[in-house]
Amino acid sequence: MTNTLLERAKKIMPGGVSSPVRALKSVGGEPLFIVKARGANFWDIDNKKFIDLCMSFGPLILGHAHDKIVSSIKNAAEKGTSYGISSPYEVDLAEKIVESHSATEWVRFVNSGTEAVMSALRLARGYTNRNMIIKFAGCYHGHTDSMLVKAGSGLATFGISSSAGVPSNVSKNTVVLPLGNLELVKQAVENHGEDIAAIIVEGVPANNGLLIQSNEYMKGLETISRDNGSLFLVDEVITGFRLGLGGATDYYKIKPDLVTFGKVIGGGLPIGAYGGKKELMESIAPLGDVYQAGTLSGNPLAMAAGNVTLDILRNTPVYNELENLGQKFANDITNIFDELAFPFSLRRFGSIIWPILQANVEPVNPDEISNEAVDNYSKLHKSALKEGIYLPPSAFEVAFLSTAHTDQIIEEISSKLKLAGSNL
Ligand code: PLP
Repeated sequence: MTNTLLERAKKIMPGGVSSPVRALKSVGGEPLFIVKARGANFWDIDNKKFIDLCMSFGPLILGHAHDKIVSSIKNAAEKGTSYGISSPYEVDLAEKIVESHSATEWVRFVNSGTEAVMSALRLARGYTNRNMIIKFAGCYHGHTDSMLVKAGSGLATFGISSSAGVPSNVSKNTVVLPLGNLELVKQAVENHGEDIAAIIVEGVPANNGLLIQSNEYMKGLETISRDNGSLFLVDEVITGFRLGLGGATDYYKIKPDLVTFGKVIGGGLPIGAYGGKKELMESIAPLGDVYQAGTLSGNPLAMAAGNVTLDILRNTPVYNELENLGQKFANDITNIFDELAFPFSLRRFGSIIWPILQANVEPVNPDEISNEAVDNYSKLHKSALKEGIYLPPSAFEVAFLSTAHTDQIIEEISSKLKLAGSNL
């Protein structure tokens, strides 16, 4: 059945998918079609069962189809799927975010992480009356034009577009720097300081592997930004409510001016949010002159799912549980690759895990990964699929655990990965 559906999809949808990485192109595979999911598992259209280690790229911190989330969505849907008018759910969720996240005094809901970043950048530009943004190679901030930019040939150059369709007069306002080097940030600020509206960085870069940055680096970005009158924007779309209630902001004890959220705060429904200092957020329409709006923003179903998710995260010891599961997962699969005598390293931040098929690396930049490691990952991905394990669909995507990945499921993953690994 998969093949027939794939043929139909490919005839009318680019690559047969609604988002590129789902095509499994970078691991040499074909799209899967999923018909059902529960806990740590999903089933494809041929009724093959998989253990999911991608978890929709992060939102599903409590697992697929969590009972309480599903019933909150059902209850909300029975009362209407969209009002186009405010609802109590929004105020409840906003209060929970503001109470939990130290950098968020005010918040505005949107429908995706991309929208959150796009809107926060507009706010930064509107507030500072400056145009340029510093971003870092290896960080992904969604597909808004100004963030689809890669580094030019020099180190501290203006960016060039990494996608067709991004006008050069947009990409030239993005400066792209390598992660992990504060000197280059200082240099860029010396050169373009008066034009720099914001420095944006992922809370923990987790879109080109897991490129864990030091405390000193994150604090350094904040200081440089502040001294220059730019805004410090921390993109917590992945890290927000994933690392802990206070995200990367609390972990690094930093004070971003603006933050963006997505994924976990919507409990698996489409959502995004941006927030930060009240004084900045007052610039947003209808109070201020920075325009931003959305037909489905604050959607009652997404708000209901988000409220239940945050209630569980705030009232039960989920983060301890995830830390223990993360540790077990890391130890078990490291042991397996040791036994197989296959080159292997692992980066982990709580329940975010990056397996690397290369020995002894702790990368802070994506170019530290060898082509051989990337090729081996593709092979592992294919054989893991056969064993019923869905690994992240690229050597540079991280795995996400949820509370549904119990010790027993981790043991099952380990024994299946051992089989998959022995075919490498
Ligand atoms: N920012 C970060 C850090 C992300 O990881 C992503 C998506 O993976 C985005 C922004 C964009 O979010 P969305 O895919 O919801 O538009």
